[in-house]
Amino acid sequence: MTEAVQRTAAMADGPLESLVQLALDLRWSWHHTSDELWRRLEPELWDLTQNAWVILQTVSQQKLKATLEQPAMMQLLEELIAERRSAIESPGWFRQTHADSPLTCVAYFSMEFMLSEALPIYSGGLGNVAGDQLKAASDLDIPVVGIGLLYQQGYFRQQIDAEGLQQALYPFNDPGQLPITPVRDAAGEWLRIPVVLPGFKLWIRVWQAVVGRTRLYLLDTNDPANLPSYRGITSELYPSGAEARLRQEMVLGIAGWRLLRSLGLHAEVCHMNEGHAAFAVLERAHGWMLDHKQPFDIALAVTRAGNLFTTHTPVEAGFDRFAPQLIEQYFTLYAEQALGIPLKYLLALGRQNPEDSSEPFNMAYLAIRGSCAINGVSKLHGQVSRRIFQPLFPRWPQLEVPVTAITNGVHTPSWDSAASDALWTRSCGKGRWLGSLKTLEESLRCVSDEEFWELRAVSRRELVEYTRVRLARELAARGEHPQQVAVAGQVFDSNTLTIGFARRFTAYKRPNLLLHDPERLIRILTNRDFPVQLVLAGKAHPQDFVGQQLIQQWVRFVHRPEVRPHAVFLSDHDMHLTEHLVQGVDLWLNTPRRPWEACGTSGMKVLVNGGLNISVLDGWWAEAFSPEIGWAIGDGQEHDGARDAQDANQLYQLLEERVIPEFYHRNSQGIPARWVARMKESMARLTSAFSSNRAVREYTEQHYLPAATAYLKRARSETLGAELLEWRQHLDRHWHTIRFGTLTVLQEKERFLFSAQLYLNSLPANSIQMEIFADSPTGGHPLIEVMQRGPDLVGSQNAYLYTGSVPADRPSQDFTVRVVPFHPEASVPIEASHILWQR
Ligand SMILES: *Cc1c(COP(=O)(O)O)cnc(C)c1O
Repeated sequence: MTEAVQRTAAMADGPLESLVQLALDLRWSWHHTSDELWRRLEPELWDLTQNAWVILQTVSQQKLKATLEQPAMMQLLEELIAERRSAIESPGWFRQTHADSPLTCVAYFSMEFMLSEALPIYSGGLGNVAGDQLKAASDLDIPVVGIGLLYQQGYFRQQIDAEGLQQALYPFNDPGQLPITPVRDAAGEWLRIPVVLPGFKLWIRVWQAVVGRTRLYLLDTNDPANLPSYRGITSELYPSGAEARLRQEMVLGIAGWRLLRSLGLHAEVCHMNEGHAAFAVLERAHGWMLDHKQPFDIALAVTRAGNLFTTHTPVEAGFDRFAPQLIEQYFTLYAEQALGIPLKYLLALGRQNPEDSSEPFNMAYLAIRGSCAINGVSKLHGQVSRRIFQPLFPRWPQLEVPVTAITNGVHTPSWDSAASDALWTRSCGKGRWLGSLKTLEESLRCVSDEEFWELRAVSRRELVEYTRVRLARELAARGEHPQQVAVAGQVFDSNTLTIGFARRFTAYKRPNLLLHDPERLIRILTNRDFPVQLVLAGKAHPQDFVGQQLIQQWVRFVHRPEVRPHAVFLSDHDMHLTEHLVQGVDLWLNTPRRPWEACGTSGMKVLVNGGLNISVLDGWWAEAFSPEIGWAIGDGQEHDGARDAQDANQLYQLLEERVIPEFYHRNSQGIPARWVARMKESMARLTSAFSSNRAVREYTEQHYLPAATAYLKRARSETLGAELLEWRQHLDRHWHTIRFGTLTVLQEKERFLFSAQLYLNSLPANSIQMEIFADSPTGGHPLIEVMQRGPDLVGSQNAYLYTGSVPADRPSQDFTVRVVPFHPEASVPIEASHILWQR
């Protein structure tokens, strides 16, 4: 807090205190009711920063006083405070639907959170998912707290020079200007968490951001007590260099979990958004060891029941991997002294083959070994992840590799425009995003074509205005001739079909697919009767030189005199720019190389605003697409880059023959009826389905609630942890001793009767299960029938006859039997991946 605000807050009578509360709640970033207040105080600053906290610290005492003395403003403030209180205190979906659930706290760990441009601690998609889920958790009253890092510089800011070269800038984020406050302990002291690094203790400061009902805690190493080289650990998001990343991941996972303990938050569930946070697995077990005086093995067996790992990458190269020497340098003391295990044992948790001492330490493997559930972020990504993690579950069918899928969604109220908000409010009511979304589809269908088309017209007009102003500023700032700057004021046209493309520029996203044949693109853009305009934006990581070249290609293209009026590349893509784009465009383009787009979210942001999607059948679009709601590129197969020319050609053809004619084919009222019909289908069917509201409810019901129950059961039992550990150790030690005897199959009427002899030798019979198995003929879930253990085999020790039956509707050779681990409280195969097939 700056001195001025401390002063105002300290002397605060009611209204000032209320303003501070409002300004520090990031809810204003999506709930626009307070915009008017901030704009009234500092109009220009508000439009530029969208940061209420900055306004409050900038405005003079006199102006503040004078404003608050106006009865209308005072009344507005009172209304806002009352509205906020009721929104926070009244029970929401979770408290209503799961009133008697044992879940009290989910700790959601993420390297980045995209909540508002006023808090620049994000880069792109991953932060988007984290931020939008936190907001939805607040809307739905789900007890989630976020854990992340506060970066002094965050992700780089982009400027593009006249040659189209990207310049990376790192402006300093003054924490005093960010909408966050220090977290203080009970004694009023700033909370600082210690973590021991080689030779030195690292002090980590803690901040909090208020996000409606939820809190985001941010860790920061820029403490004067730290070694200078340690102070910069949290300076940048995604620094280059393994050591820098390892240090950040230690802060996130280890200090993050310690922070929860310092705050007295007993999270039942730890949700790791990507493997970056996997060290939380170790520290959670460590905390349990301290509380229960039990060894690491048991602590991990207990705590992993409450851990959930969400994987986001569709390629193995996407996982963080560290050289064993680096882990040795940073973790030897921690392993031996805190966890009481040899380093070798810790390393094994991050390896596919624990015996291979040269294998790097893989954060995703650690997350898996320390969790009881894993999920991918779209149906297709779930499949891809099962393939990637197959090596950890050797001989298990790929379909049974324990990765489920929860498709991402976006926080609808954060991405809708004022006009779209008004349309949805008229048809579906004000509180429409706060519940189960069940009736929205039907209600929206009652909206007339005129209203839908009017929404598009208004939204497109605003985007055209915004683009002109922003482009003129950018051109002036980089020293373009005033004449060129003036031309910026005339780009685009409010009645022209507007296509948007904005995301990270990196090779697999193929941002230049549309540029494949520049002359053909120019013909499309400049068609006299049916023109098209194109707005682009995107940053490439400073180390991604291919990505930077792709930006340059586009910038050079849009500079061609005949293209200038029709295509614009806007620099410094961030959340604020995204908002304008997704609200204004008619059509959103996405061209990833399948299956590299694990999910993708930007296309979901246009849904609520009536924008349509044209995209490769990858990520979320592979499950959302149907011909009535948008357009698909590609054949839904994977091609290793060989299809670029074909995909580009298909994209041009779709635009020329389908999209553009449909947009310009108007009825007697001037409405493109088929286009509007498509809008209606897309908005009605997809907006709810691809919202973070839906995603977070799925996380809650499919993962958080069962994980909390399973964890508490283990945690409250005196013996269950040790029992599970012993079960697992028995399996490890004796699995190789079990073997099959004779298998007989008889047909009796409509069923096959299976009898299988099994020699368990040293393995207790209740630690396994025998199953009849057959692949599904359609590629769906296999048939699995648990067999019953019958009598002992005569003359043998610990050997039994197992029996079971299945429908005889296919050849008996389709079936086989297998043995898998079993314990009523365990998750198989994630906790024990042994398997033995009869053939
Ligand atoms: C939504 C968003 C993204 C994610 O876009 P994808 O198409 O999912 O890659 C990236 N950056 C910003 C600023 C966004 O708003």
